[in-house]
Amino acid sequence: MWKNVEHIGIAVRDLSHVNEVYSKLFGEPPYKSEAVELEQVDTSFFKVGNTKIEFLSATGPESAIAKFIEKRGEGIHHIAFEVEDIHNELERLQAEGFQFTRPEVSKGADNKLVCFIHPKSANGVLVELCQEIEN
Ligand code: ZN
Repeated sequence: MWKNVEHIGIAVRDLSHVNEVYSKLFGEPPYKSEAVELEQVDTSFFKVGNTKIEFLSATGPESAIAKFIEKRGEGIHHIAFEVEDIHNELERLQAEGFQFTRPEVSKGADNKLVCFIHPKSANGVLVELCQEIEN
């Protein structure tokens, strides 16, 4: 079952500049900053009411964020939905013919298991599925 939009991901060049600008804009600093080595990204998370915004910058040239910015410039990169059982959803959607950027669930930022539906399979939108890791 799909629950809600968990966050919106935005690709940026300079995360420290973004932290400065959006701290002013939202009136609060990011609540979390974290590197995801597998994806070669640094992330910063802001909260506005119940809505989370994730900013991502590349830490290496092979990062999907580096490639995205090279092609399209900075901007909205993905929409993340919280799901109840990410492994079930991955299996169900693969059976439905959806392509994923990786064929398995991995550990993402902000204490989440994640997987991404390739934009080719979702009308140009990179869709993230995520599930909170239970501690
Ligand atoms: Zn995300």
